[in-house]
Amino acid sequence: MQRTIAEKISCTGIGLHSGQPVQLTLHPARAGSGVVFVRTDLPQPVEVPAIHSAVTSTRLATTLGRGDATVGTVEHLLAALCGLGIDNVRVEVDGPEIPVMDGSSASFVFLIRAAGIFDQGAPRRSLRVRRPVEVRDGDRLIRIEPARDLRVTYSVDFAHPAIGRQQLRNLVIDDESFEQEICRARTFGFLREVEALWRNGLARGGNLDNTVVMDDFRVLNRDGLRWPDEFVRHKVLDLLGDLALLGMPIEGHLVVERGGHALHQRFVRALLEHPSHWTIETQAPLARRVAAGQRDALARASV
Ligand SMILES: [Zn+2]
Repeated sequence: MQRTIAEKISCTGIGLHSGQPVQLTLHPARAGSGVVFVRTDLPQPVEVPAIHSAVTSTRLATTLGRGDATVGTVEHLLAALCGLGIDNVRVEVDGPEIPVMDGSSASFVFLIRAAGIFDQGAPRRSLRVRRPVEVRDGDRLIRIEPARDLRVTYSVDFAHPAIGRQQLRNLVIDDESFEQEICRARTFGFLREVEALWRNGLARGGNLDNTVVMDDFRVLNRDGLRWPDEFVRHKVLDLLGDLALLGMPIEGHLVVERGGHALHQRFVRALLEHPSHWTIETQAPLARRVAAGQRDALARASV
């Protein structure tokens, strides 16, 4: 069944790129409406649906837009909604970015849990993969293979002493695994890159409270890492948030080698361009649940 939150709930944080304070309010939404962002700070509120065709940028984070109105850094909130199986929610934000909070999805999971989850009694649909689909970019790869649930095998490889090669294998994604294994993994960056971003007026809200930062040798955050392989866990978090823009839960085994926001979105488009490789199933209880209400947009995109 489709789910929304039981009551509205708010939080305040700063935008990772703007460094400006921003207020976020999650509202319950009717079945079939999906996840919709609303910029409330503009002269007229602008609604931006959480759908792949609204992606305007994948540089550093995933940004959605409609006309001149953009909503940036949506992926960590979308990952939390996906991880907890929330299909329908109205996300009001009074600035151009979702607040970064601690750089993970943990604060959003806490908010959703505090609001409560409401079963809406309407069937949920999901996309079940029947034949593999793959995208490559040099040594980067995303492939999906048939499976009766959503599972992820993700590998990263950074020539850095704190990271190296890390792999999560065959992790079945459900509420429990998302909350225990994924949702607290933070975004990360290298000091040299962060300094370059700052010089260009970007990542102004980025600091050691919301980003794992490394110099050439080690992690600079005083409390260190939450897991030794926090990096690959955060990549899985980003993947779930980015794939939420498909507008429907997926059943399949995702195998990812060195993914990133741009490749994640290329994969969503490739999947939609191969409608003979999947079927739409109604009410598959093992499926992950993402914004079932956006299925019309999905159907249009796959024609
Ligand atoms: Zn991220």
